[in-house]
Amino acid sequence: MPPSIVLAFAVAGLLVGSFLNVCIYRLPLRESIVWPASRCTACQRHLAWFENLPVLSWTALRGRCRTCGASISPIYPIVELTTAFVFVGGVSVYGPSALLAVRLAFACALVVLFAIDLRHRILPNIITLPGIAAGFGASWFLPPGWISSLVGIAGGGGILYAIAELYYRVRGREGLGMGDVKMLAMIGAFLGWPLMVLTLVLASFAGSIVGVALIASGRGGMQAALPFGTFLALGSLVAAVAGDPILAWYLAFYR
Ligand SMILES: [Zn+2]
Repeated sequence: MPPSIVLAFAVAGLLVGSFLNVCIYRLPLRESIVWPASRCTACQRHLAWFENLPVLSWTALRGRCRTCGASISPIYPIVELTTAFVFVGGVSVYGPSALLAVRLAFACALVVLFAIDLRHRILPNIITLPGIAAGFGASWFLPPGWISSLVGIAGGGGILYAIAELYYRVRGREGLGMGDVKMLAMIGAFLGWPLMVLTLVLASFAGSIVGVALIASGRGGMQAALPFGTFLALGSLVAAVAGDPILAWYLAFYR
């Protein structure tokens, strides 16, 4: 990969990450993501262009607003750096292709869902439902193909819906939300059913480890519901990049 391409994708990732921050902040508040321009969330002052540069501004301002001194969450530079990393990783895995464009859009949706679920414990329909449609639409022309995508949507949504129903009947309260159901359907739409199943396994495994660690450290019992969407996001990123080798390795045990 030529360094100029890596650099171009890193810069594009930082800029897109900056836009994803706007989505992460405004979508849960049901605000427009295109208007008005960025403001300090504490003093409402409009930000100058040099206060809006990805990562650089946050670092130069040491995470504080220039006028009111309110601290600015490190989530912002973290999201920008993560998106830059995803863009560079994406182009090195998929190369410049139509599939790269689709997978980057998918990854951007995951970054937004991850951060919103972590902060607000919701997975907005405005991302998951168009995501299902976009993933299914793209699968007519690109991997995983429309059949695998359709089975991924129905299977992913169906499995989590069944688990959510069962959990509710047994425990008498909601363990998984419909947001998780729609998010796994979206992952199935983009990645197809085998990688959707792998995502569910990885997310459940990671969720159990973190859950046990929290219980062991006394920082949360079984009642402290962890946002499952964050684990689905991480699991599907791993599945999108390394899923096929992982599945091949696993299936080799049964040959
Ligand atoms: Zn301020």
